[in-house]
Amino acid sequence: MYVRRIFKRGLVVITSLFFLFLLLNFIFPVKVNIPYAQVISAMDGKVLHSFLSKDEKWRMEVQLQDVSPQLLKAIVNKEDKYFYYHVGVNPVAICRAAFNNIIYHRKTSGASTITMQVARLLYPGDRTYLNKLIESFRAWQLECKYSKSEILALYLNLVPYGGNIEGVKAASVFYFDKLPKQLSLAECVSLSIIPNRPNSLRPGRNNEFFKKERNRWLQRFKEEKLFAAEEINDALNEPVDIKRQKALAEIPQLANRLRKMYPSVSNIESSIVTSTQFKVQSLSYNYSKRLALKGIYNSSVIVIDNKTHQVVAYVGSNDKNDIAHNGMVDGVNAIRSPGSTLKPLVYALAIDKGLLTPMSCIADVPVNYTGYMPENFNSKFNGNVTVEFALSHSLNIPAVKTLSALGLPTCVDALTRSGFSQINADKKKLGLSLILGGCGVKLSDLANLYCTLANNGKYQPLQYVTDEDSSVNKQNVEIVSPASAFMVTEMLGKLVRPDMPNNYESSLRIPKVAWKTGTSYGRRDAWSIGYNTRYTVGVWVGNFTGEGVAELTGSDMATPLLFDVFNAIDYNAEGKWFTQPKEVNIRLVCNESGKMPAEFCDKQVMDEFIPGISSNITCNHMKEVFISPDEKISYCTSCVPLIGYKKKLYQNPEADLLAFYESEHISFEKIPTHNPLCTRVFKDAPPKITSPADKSEYIVDSKAGDKLMLSCNAGSEVQSVYWYINDIFYRACGSKKQLFFTPEKGQLKISCSDDKGRNSNIWINVSEQ
Ligand SMILES: [Zn+2]
Ligand SMILES: [Zn+2]
Repeated sequence: MYVRRIFKRGLVVITSLFFLFLLLNFIFPVKVNIPYAQVISAMDGKVLHSFLSKDEKWRMEVQLQDVSPQLLKAIVNKEDKYFYYHVGVNPVAICRAAFNNIIYHRKTSGASTITMQVARLLYPGDRTYLNKLIESFRAWQLECKYSKSEILALYLNLVPYGGNIEGVKAASVFYFDKLPKQLSLAECVSLSIIPNRPNSLRPGRNNEFFKKERNRWLQRFKEEKLFAAEEINDALNEPVDIKRQKALAEIPQLANRLRKMYPSVSNIESSIVTSTQFKVQSLSYNYSKRLALKGIYNSSVIVIDNKTHQVVAYVGSNDKNDIAHNGMVDGVNAIRSPGSTLKPLVYALAIDKGLLTPMSCIADVPVNYTGYMPENFNSKFNGNVTVEFALSHSLNIPAVKTLSALGLPTCVDALTRSGFSQINADKKKLGLSLILGGCGVKLSDLANLYCTLANNGKYQPLQYVTDEDSSVNKQNVEIVSPASAFMVTEMLGKLVRPDMPNNYESSLRIPKVAWKTGTSYGRRDAWSIGYNTRYTVGVWVGNFTGEGVAELTGSDMATPLLFDVFNAIDYNAEGKWFTQPKEVNIRLVCNESGKMPAEFCDKQVMDEFIPGISSNITCNHMKEVFISPDEKISYCTSCVPLIGYKKKLYQNPEADLLAFYESEHISFEKIPTHNPLCTRVFKDAPPKITSPADKSEYIVDSKAGDKLMLSCNAGSEVQSVYWYINDIFYRACGSKKQLFFTPEKGQLKISCSDDKGRNSNIWINVSEQ
């Protein structure tokens, strides 16, 4: 009866306690909300950058599987041998501690289990008996809510290591420059003994004393046979060489960018490759040190792995500590003028439209587009040039002409689809000058455009993190065809290039790279972007202040750094180059025009083309004409006499090239005057008005006396042309001559008639500036 009553009462007490616990647990639930330091690591896990946690601690989150098992073993053995067997509180240890306390008046902390320590770290308070009780209650709560592994992980993340360093990851990184899974046994034991004595065992302060303490514990673990004796013997001999690292800030600009992209992720695993990053960082630093003498202080570099589209090196600025020259600016993400660096895209798009092939000729002569008159970098005009020449010499007129023929919207659309956000935002404001740098781009956008060329014309957004779920982004967007991408790559990959830097020593190994340079207006930005099969490298050199420097050109200032980077990161490349896609074929074309040869085209060259796409117009660079034996009169088919004539080939330049020859006084044999006795009524081929441009808007300053030019391209049989403005006769002149007139405001109809009665009209709009 008595036993049963006791049993009954005991049961009531236990049940009451149980319900009390449930009630308290309900009223005071245990909350684990740890603010972590945001950590940005390289692909290999190395911590490159860290931001303090909200409560200003270096507390880096770590998972149990990322901690050396030896460290776990050492910590559990040292702190709480029965961790895996108790329910948060170890009654034996409490009794022992209480006994010690009462008998010897000695305070010991040995009674605290790992769970109780976690509770104390989560709810810090003074060491009173009441707090001890609360701690025990919290420990039970933790044990109910979490598994042993989860509790141990909490401990590893919260355990203090002196100063504002908390948790084993921060301790490993700051004291050993390693990750918690890379620690040696000696280092594991070191980390297990610091937390209880953060003052006397402050790492880096007294390494000799530290070693003594560490070895004392190693000996103890040896006696307890916790680790293999041999391993412990090695650990005993390991020197203590702890230096507290400074704050981790290797990639400040990328870190800030990633922080904005992933504000709530504590461990951001970036795609940066540590060795590549450090190599490129130091090249950029040293390179800019040399350029500082010329008043050029900043450079930025991005390196992309072409296969994965991952950014493997990101140097926002050459020297983050150079406050005087805005070293904290992110030059990879800044919006700047691209100079000529968008030209390859325009040619590639034109190739896809069938407008061009590498050997197609474009007249590099003065042109006027809607009042916009582009000029070449050296203010010279080259006459007829091939696309390949125009691209490698970065000629402006052929690029503007190509863009005009292609249509600005096609180019803007391709850039928008390639992720150029600023171009997308500005698209209504952009004009043909876009191709000469009249727009805003980021180095990262630009480099990715070339990465697109390296990927058969397929675009993917750049990857900054090693995110396994990035498959959603893996959709390829075709910007240009593989054939066109290949043809442009071939043109950009020619080793003999005018944009090779001046004085670039020939002894230097020049890797095979397809590249393009650019210089912005006012010499504010020097660009050089290059790629091979493995990497795309983008280099920008200039001043973050936007100050221009006379010597600043892409070829002289940016290309040497581009080659330095390629030599450093890809020196032993296997020399693999891009393979020719099956869509690309080879054909012979006329050397003078790049068109399909006619019978008189005796000089022919090999050219790449895309069957079914590329234009196959036959060359007309020469024209066969009937002339009198003295070569003074030319005949048409209706006035050619039965006898007494001969056939002769004459050059047949296009209108703008003809005008260029005239203005430059370049002599060439012209077709003789047409037979004055000819009675044929000409219907076809009226004079073509070459200036002003049809349907264009002209903005003039009448006070300054702005005039517009009248010029046309008339057939060889034409002697004189007659100009009309709004159907009122203006003046007559020789067919090759130019006239100028002061335009009225508003819409103007301009007509040109030739002496054979043929006429053409254009309409323009004139407004005051
Ligand atoms: Zn020809
Ligand atoms: Zn005739």
